[in-house]
Amino acid sequence: MIYLDNAATTKIYKNAQQARAFAEDKAFANSSSIHSFGLKSSNLLRESREIISSVIGSNPDEIYFTKGATEANNIVISSLSGENNIAITSSIEHSSVYDSFKNNIFKEVIYLKNDNYGFIDIEDLKDKLQNDVKLVSIIYANNETGTIQDIRKISDIVKSFDKNILIHIDATQALGKISCDVNELKVDLMSFSAHKFHGPKGVGGLYVRKEILQKIKPVLHGGHQQVVSSGTDNHPAISAMATALKEQIDADEFNYVDDLNKYIRKLIDKNISDYIFNTPDENYSPYILSVGFANIKSEVLLHMLEDNDIYVSSGSACSKGNNNRILEALDVDDKYSDGVIRFSFAGENTKDELEKTVNVLKESIDEIRRVM
Ligand code: PMP
Repeated sequence: MIYLDNAATTKIYKNAQQARAFAEDKAFANSSSIHSFGLKSSNLLRESREIISSVIGSNPDEIYFTKGATEANNIVISSLSGENNIAITSSIEHSSVYDSFKNNIFKEVIYLKNDNYGFIDIEDLKDKLQNDVKLVSIIYANNETGTIQDIRKISDIVKSFDKNILIHIDATQALGKISCDVNELKVDLMSFSAHKFHGPKGVGGLYVRKEILQKIKPVLHGGHQQVVSSGTDNHPAISAMATALKEQIDADEFNYVDDLNKYIRKLIDKNISDYIFNTPDENYSPYILSVGFANIKSEVLLHMLEDNDIYVSSGSACSKGNNNRILEALDVDDKYSDGVIRFSFAGENTKDELEKTVNVLKESIDEIRRVM
């Protein structure tokens, strides 16, 4: 099998599986129970907070656990909603941000302009800042294209306009892969999800800068486990998430993956005609490469690759093939927009796999174009 759909989800690391199994077997008490067995579970939570906070440069008590980035993004947007509040975001956000804005009441939601790679128009941001803006929410590394926004620049501009405007980033495709230091980025809120860095599915978190905690309201009420989200903590999954994050950071694979990204670009360029890269060639996450092939239906191509045990995505898995909103926002030429494939990598992938993939890709594209 050649798995090139790591932006949809990654394979869980063995150590993360073991951390979860350990907690489920040897430390399974409710982390809120005040007996010593419960303390064992709450210690795992504490250690997990320490690991994650050391990666993002926060205090351990600024990390809140959620069922993933979707919940974290929803918490942020519903907290800052209100009929007098304006929010600024982009048109190329993940659906958990985009749909959340559509389902909450705001005085106005402003969508910033972007270029063909999805880079936000900084001048447009400067023009749109105004009174009543309470939140700026921007995706850090884009899940379709890998485009990395200059968050520090955005924060500097926003905070110099009004230091009370909150800055939230969706760092789901960034954490563990590129620097996510919340102080360097100057962000107040940051969402993440464990299964994008070889942790388990259904667990993630939200960083909340201590000074702004009172502005964040839970979407789930009930327990007293956390201020931000209630319910019994899934500490086995949380412990596995922290273990995975540490391993992903220690793997130090950015340059290796970047080499893979550049290699597949070269192979595509050498073997296939009439395509465009939707991923820029600077300020991108090397873990993602989006390519639009002319005169191709991406779903047909995806299934031809699948017949050869090669797994890719035709846009993000969350949009189930319906990625028109993002492609429209990127203003991808009609000629290429039906044939967009997202390849997404992990440290386990090899150049040999990429060569095999491009061979099958070439044969498949030739065949599709012949019959069309
Ligand atoms: N934001 C981004 C950028 C994502 O890629 C994803 C996952 N596709 C999410 C949010 C949602 O993550 P989850 O499904 O784990 O809640």
